[in-house]
Amino acid sequence: MHYFQYKNDTLFCEDVPVSTVAEEVGTPFYLYSAATLTRHFAAFDLAFAGIPHLTCFAVKSCANIAILRLFANLGGGADIVSGGELFRAGAAGVDPKKIVYSGVGKTAEEIGAALKAGILMLNVESEQELAVIQKVAAGLGLKAPISFRVNPDVDPKTHAYISTGLAKNKFGIPIGEALRVYLAARELPNITIKGVSCHIGSQLTKVSPFVESLGKLKGFIAELAGQGIAITHLDLGGGLGIRYNDEEPPEPDEYARAINKELADLDCTLILEPGRVLVGNAGVLVTRVLYTKAGLKKFIIVDAGMNDLARPSLYDAFHLIQAVERHGLEREVADVVGPICETGDFLARDRPMPKVAAGDLLAVMSAGAYGFSMSSNYNSRPRVAEVLVHGEGFHLIRDRETNDILIQGEIIPEFLVS
Ligand SMILES: *Cc1c(COP(=O)(O)O)cnc(C)c1O
Repeated sequence: MHYFQYKNDTLFCEDVPVSTVAEEVGTPFYLYSAATLTRHFAAFDLAFAGIPHLTCFAVKSCANIAILRLFANLGGGADIVSGGELFRAGAAGVDPKKIVYSGVGKTAEEIGAALKAGILMLNVESEQELAVIQKVAAGLGLKAPISFRVNPDVDPKTHAYISTGLAKNKFGIPIGEALRVYLAARELPNITIKGVSCHIGSQLTKVSPFVESLGKLKGFIAELAGQGIAITHLDLGGGLGIRYNDEEPPEPDEYARAINKELADLDCTLILEPGRVLVGNAGVLVTRVLYTKAGLKKFIIVDAGMNDLARPSLYDAFHLIQAVERHGLEREVADVVGPICETGDFLARDRPMPKVAAGDLLAVMSAGAYGFSMSSNYNSRPRVAEVLVHGEGFHLIRDRETNDILIQGEIIPEFLVS
């Protein structure tokens, strides 16, 4: 459920006409609904109310500090994957005790910053990383709280680029080797073992892969207990899918029911790292039609491109595209393309589209997750503005970049200056 709805053929975000925001901030821009974000967080978090748990929003899915603050105000923590995200979480006011840090390539500097901040735990992805954590923690005179990210070898049945829990993927430690690694970690003076974690992939539309990996992790936690290693935190990662088109992902409470059932006899705090399911349908990308071209194919050329929303080019992902002002139900098949000099620069291909003309506004739906956060400056395009609607009001939460920002930090060396 989200709060982007038509009233008399005009698309609103909560109580604000999308066109009003476009007039004020120009196009393209990302538009988020605070009521939707709040509703999604509550639906997800309350589904686990019966058990000790912590919902750590996956920052990489939508990293704006206003959004991070919104979730922090609701009691949420953060799942981070870089020192930059640690910095963002700090700037947003996320409680460090609610931060978990995942990722295969953490540097010594990033590890040091996370330890100094006092985060809940580092989800360690290799033995070499563990050695670096030990060394950094010793240097700081601290004990590093850790879990290992265990790779359960479960097929999440999603896009290959976002499958992470298969034996062939780069993530985590194979479950068959995990016991040896935990036993080794126990011997390290500056390491405190806290948890077991996993994250098997993104945009999962079935509960069964989650249940399958949870089953494997439970067995493993029992094995650790047998060795005298007590686990206090079980981190199940993120990955719950959303509806972009005709997918039928489980609702959060169906997902939670399945997990709660498995957890009944386990004495652990459950950590969840949802990203997409909280923000995906809480944001849209608003773009303006620049030109239309009719020939062998019909093209609708808009002012947003693959640098602003990479998912269609990167994953061949589907995003519904709607007219901000609806005129009738007539459709014609078209490609919706951006201004970038790549054939891969499309937002939709061979799509039945409403009839539009230059100047019309379009809303690319379900763009809240992996939208702005994956955007780039390719083709020297300033990154777009982000706006948060709250009831009848709307707030700029990120300025549109200027040309000055495009060349910020660039230097012409002396030898080129004549
Ligand atoms: C990307 C990621 C998430 C969030 O995934 P969603 O599919 O957006 O819920 C959670 N945990 C880790 C470790 C991730 O890499």
